[in-house]
Amino acid sequence: MILSYLDGQYLPLDEARVSPMDRGFLFGDGAYEVIPVYSGHPFRLAEHLARLEKTLAELRLPNPHSVAEWAEIVARIVAGNEWEDQSVYLQVTRGADAVRKHAFPATIRPTVFLMSEKLATPTPEQIERGVAVVSAEDYRWLRCDLKTISLLANCLLRQKAVDAGCAETVLFRDGILTEGAASNILVVRGGVLLAPPKNRLMLPGITYDVILELAAQNAVPFEVRDIREDEVRAADELWMTSSTKEVLPVTTLDGKPVGDGRPGALARRMHALYQDFKNTVMRRG
Ligand code: PMP
Repeated sequence: MILSYLDGQYLPLDEARVSPMDRGFLFGDGAYEVIPVYSGHPFRLAEHLARLEKTLAELRLPNPHSVAEWAEIVARIVAGNEWEDQSVYLQVTRGADAVRKHAFPATIRPTVFLMSEKLATPTPEQIERGVAVVSAEDYRWLRCDLKTISLLANCLLRQKAVDAGCAETVLFRDGILTEGAASNILVVRGGVLLAPPKNRLMLPGITYDVILELAAQNAVPFEVRDIREDEVRAADELWMTSSTKEVLPVTTLDGKPVGDGRPGALARRMHALYQDFKNTVMRRG
C-alpha cells in the first residue's frame, strides 16, 4: 500500500479520487515539487517549498499551507511509506469549478495531493558507462523557471529520447543550451565546469545548486554563463543533474561520443563528492 494525501486526508493511493472538473485535469493548471528523501530525511525541504511558493505566486494561486503544515504533511507521507529512500511528489492545482472556463473560478479551493515512490537513482552501470542523449529545439513556453504540472512539451521531448533508446533530450533555444526535458545540463570544457545561468528559460534545479556548492567548496573551477550549442557539441564532459538522477555523466550526444566517450575525470570526482555529501549531510537530515 502506498500512502497518499488528498485535501486533508491520508489514504491509500489507489483510493484517492479527484473531480474531472479539477483544473489540473482540464488545463494542467497547477504547480508541483519532487522532494528526495534519504533515510527518512527530506533533502532541502525549505528550498523545495520556496520554489513551490515562487511558482504558486507566479500562477496567482494562493499557497494553501504554511511551511510548518507542509513539513508535517510531508513527514506523515514519509513515515507512512515503507522505503528508506523516497521521492515525495507534491502538487497543488487551482481546484474544480462548476463549469469549464479558462478564467479562474470565483472561489478557489486548491486541490492538494501528495504521494511517494521508492527513490530510483541511476544504476551502477549507468554511472560507470554514462548515458546517451539526443538533442532538440526547446519549443516550450517562456516560463520554464516555474515548476508547473503543464508538462506536455517536456513529455514529448523526453519521449523523443526514449524512442531513440536514450536517457534524456538536451534542449537548445536559439543556439543556447537551456536544460534537459526533466533535468539540468552542465558542461565541462578545459577543466572548467560551465553552468547555464538561471533565467526564465530553465528550472532552477535544487541539485544544480548542490553541484555548484560542492564545486565551490572543493576548488573545482566553474563559470555560470550562456553556453552555445557548438560548445556543448565540443565539450569534454556533459552531465545531467536532478533530484533523482543526482549527477549522471552523458557519454553520447546525438550518436556522437562526448569527449572520449567515457565518463570524464571531473564527473567521477563530482559523483564521489555528491555520494559523500549524501551519506553524511543528507542522511543525517
Ligand atoms: N529541469 C527540469 C525541466 C526538471 O523537470 C527538473 C526536475 N526533474 C530539473 C531541471 C532538476 O531539478 P531538481 O534538481 O530540483 O530535481
